[in-house]
Amino acid sequence: MPEITPVPLAALTTLRVGGTPRRMVEARTTDELVETLQELWLDREPWLVLGGGSNLLFGDDDFEGTVVLIRTTGIERLPSPREGHVRLKVQAGHSWDELVALTVSAGLAGIEAMSGIPGTTGAAPIQNVGAYGQEIVETLVEVELLDEATGEVSTVPASDLGLGLRTSVLKQHYGSVPERPAVILTVTLELAQVGHGDVPVRSAQLRQALSLDEDTAVSLAWIRETVLATRARKGMVLNDADSDTYSAGSFFQNPVVSAEFAATLPPEAPRWPMLPAEPDDIVIPLDRFDGYLPPRPQGLPPVKLSAAWLIEQSGMPKGFRLPRSRAGLSTKHALALTNRGSASAEEVAALARLIQQRVQSEFGILLQPEPVLRGVEL
Ligand SMILES: Cc1cc2nc3c(=O)[nH]c(=O)nc-3n(C[C@H](O)[C@H](O)[C@H](O)COP(=O)(O)OP(=O)(O)OC[C@H]3O[C@@H](n4cnc5c(N)ncnc54)[C@H](O)[C@@H]3O)c2cc1C
Repeated sequence: MPEITPVPLAALTTLRVGGTPRRMVEARTTDELVETLQELWLDREPWLVLGGGSNLLFGDDDFEGTVVLIRTTGIERLPSPREGHVRLKVQAGHSWDELVALTVSAGLAGIEAMSGIPGTTGAAPIQNVGAYGQEIVETLVEVELLDEATGEVSTVPASDLGLGLRTSVLKQHYGSVPERPAVILTVTLELAQVGHGDVPVRSAQLRQALSLDEDTAVSLAWIRETVLATRARKGMVLNDADSDTYSAGSFFQNPVVSAEFAATLPPEAPRWPMLPAEPDDIVIPLDRFDGYLPPRPQGLPPVKLSAAWLIEQSGMPKGFRLPRSRAGLSTKHALALTNRGSASAEEVAALARLIQQRVQSEFGILLQPEPVLRGVEL
């Protein structure tokens, strides 16, 4: 095993908190990664894989287990069965934003609006990363996985990963274990070859996010630059010189509630009805048709709310801090919990708990954390 001297996770996570593991392994090739994990699983050792550490709140206590740093890199260009498209097979440890930059400079469309998301490509499907109306589920073809249950590598289509709003079967949600404990080794995306000129933006959500009307055509490079500038204004691009970015991005998920519940909120509360999936046509073979047709789903679609708005309206504006705490809300975005200088994981958790309590008593909604929490409780 390519073992290295363990360092505190505070040095490897973007929230800059976390104790030191007993052992640390740096896997630079897929073979090293697979062998390391298979050994750990045979020995039933506590383990954690780490990419860029940008979606993790790790507790202050030292960890009696092994942290495996995924440092595999590389991109392979493959043909696609779809005309005008190519596939990219990317190693799990490859920087996500470097991948996005490369696709933009190669004139390949599909992930440009997700510019500036920190972390690794292998972690991107874990919570179905998304931004400005684009999600990885739209371009993800398949992943190569190493399953803990079998110790085997397999190729799994995106449709088997349960990708949803900041979720998948691979994510450890707060208070639960992943439905499918596994480690992603490679990610294959299918991207459209659109070149460097201006092209219309087909997605209505992306047009809305970028304030574009239906007829305006823009280049992939314009989308990337615009997204990066917007994110930087909100403290959502990592910057060593700016403690507003010492965060895990959005700390709470935007809650999804029923249309009836949303109607009870103040009219100015931002809300986005979740577009209902087009119902599949029901095909029943004639010899099995007994006269019964299952009913179509009825009612209004659920509604997504703004967690940032709920937090601010519960009396915690941007920049909010508890007295004597070194953790606080970003001064640029109420949804980012930030480490304002040597905060402990417990200080971040205390702030998160207070936010949950206040929002719940004000609006009756329990905000759920978006990052993975290990060794720390809300
Ligand atoms: C400033 C900032 C802005 C952000 N903006 C966004 C945004 O716009 N949209 C968005 O969706 N997210 C955003 N995030 C969250 C985060 O960047 C993404 O979730 C990212 O994909 C995490 O990658 P990582 O390599 O840092 O994961 P890590 O934090 O290293 O790991 C996160 C979890 O995934 C597991 N994991 C990591 N790699 C693998 C693998 N190969 N196989 C299996 N499990 C793995 C880890 O064990 C851990 O449980 C933001 C974070 C920050 C700090």
